[in-house]
Amino acid sequence: MSSQEHIVIVGGGASGLAAAVFCARMLGGERVLVLEKGPRVGKKLLATGNGTCNLSNIHAAKPYYHGDDPSFVTAALEKFSPQDAIAFFENIGVSCTVRDNGRVYPRCEQAGAVLDCLRLTLAELGVTVRCDTAVTDIVKNGDGFLVKTATDTIAADRVLLAVGGAAAPALGGSAEGYRLATPHRKTPLFPSIVQVKTDTAFVKAMKGLRIDAAVSFVKDGTTLATHTGEVLFTEYGLSGPAVMQISRVAGQWERRKQGTLTAVLDLLPDLSRDDVMGELRARRALGRRGEDFLTGLLNKRIGQTVCRAAGVPLAEVTDGLSDRQLRAVCDTIKGFAFPVFGTQGFGGAQVTAGGIATDEVDPNTMESCLIKGLYILGEALDIDGDCGGFNLQWAWSSAYAAACAVGGAR
Ligand SMILES: Cc1cc2nc3c(=O)[nH]c(=O)nc-3n(C[C@H](O)[C@H](O)[C@H](O)COP(=O)(O)OP(=O)(O)OC[C@H]3O[C@@H](n4cnc5c(N)ncnc54)[C@H](O)[C@@H]3O)c2cc1C
Repeated sequence: MSSQEHIVIVGGGASGLAAAVFCARMLGGERVLVLEKGPRVGKKLLATGNGTCNLSNIHAAKPYYHGDDPSFVTAALEKFSPQDAIAFFENIGVSCTVRDNGRVYPRCEQAGAVLDCLRLTLAELGVTVRCDTAVTDIVKNGDGFLVKTATDTIAADRVLLAVGGAAAPALGGSAEGYRLATPHRKTPLFPSIVQVKTDTAFVKAMKGLRIDAAVSFVKDGTTLATHTGEVLFTEYGLSGPAVMQISRVAGQWERRKQGTLTAVLDLLPDLSRDDVMGELRARRALGRRGEDFLTGLLNKRIGQTVCRAAGVPLAEVTDGLSDRQLRAVCDTIKGFAFPVFGTQGFGGAQVTAGGIATDEVDPNTMESCLIKGLYILGEALDIDGDCGGFNLQWAWSSAYAAACAVGGAR
């Protein structure tokens, strides 16, 4: 055995780094060791919010979380709320600002600054952080543990498992970490906050365009989720915040592909069907060719794609369109349907749905009910949040709950 540490934190991501600060403040930095498999800590954190780090959401509460038991989040969020997260980050030097829909960002809009302030605080507290150190096994040893790496065996009194999930492998995501929680049960994993692959017959023609639309996922005639916001048409299907926000249902469906799933876009969500029909009749009276029938109402390329999908010839004048043809155009505008093929998988996902089953973990402390002294944090658990700062808030709150338990036990 090469060293004796009190608290070993496995994983130097969002929850691991925050837990290290909390533990060091409660116990002293010299008793805390962070082991990170990558060459640097916080790689995923750097990519959050497109590099601006949406670090919390002031509305964070059970309805924004998913998993077999979303109520698992409540105790930790009460212990360390979004307001506590703001106060914590302000305290370590990150000035925060609250934007639309309660999203919290660093005022400087730099995820790198959030990581820097966490790293600087750890250094100031005297915490040791070892990178390029993948933990390969965690073995119970009396009241404590032996934490094994390729080159070392480290004794620990408590272990905090903060290994994250399988999403975004390019940023360190991996399903390997779950193994370290054996014999804990793992619920099925699937990608969430992810781009969606659809039939591309019409989507490709609109590639690169962003619009505000209401997007719904409909399975065998039943609407599973709806969200209004920005939609991006891509080479493979649909992306953009509105699609990503409700993409969890596509990830879930993809596991078994039972029934058919369709993405349905309302391209003019602020207009009723009657309003749209009125618009179309007025446009028919203009007598323009199909290629410009919807020009001025919709983006031109989207308008042309709608006409093609509705069977309106682009080269012909439109003053002869029948009411039935107008209704077909209206149907397409109010419900442009794209059969869903799947998602872009963990490679494109921001978060992992599923994970270590929460019914075997204490929601007040994150301590394993199966292995005393082992605490499981963040995305590794069967908890995933909506897009908008909810996942990082979960990382901070679960880290704090574990640190309190570890600190209070001393
Ligand atoms: C592109 C992108 C953008 C995102 N944007 C946002 C956002 O703006 N707001 C938001 O709330 N959420 C966002 N998320 C989600 C958020 O980043 C994660 O939910 C959060 O980082 C999870 O924290 P964690 O500590 O559980 O895991 P991670 O941050 O993934 O950290 C886990 C760490 O453990 C290390 N590790 C794994 N296995 C081992 C091992 N065996 N030994 C040692 N180390 C190991 C990994 O290398 C990693 O550094 C985004 C995610 C992505 C991919």
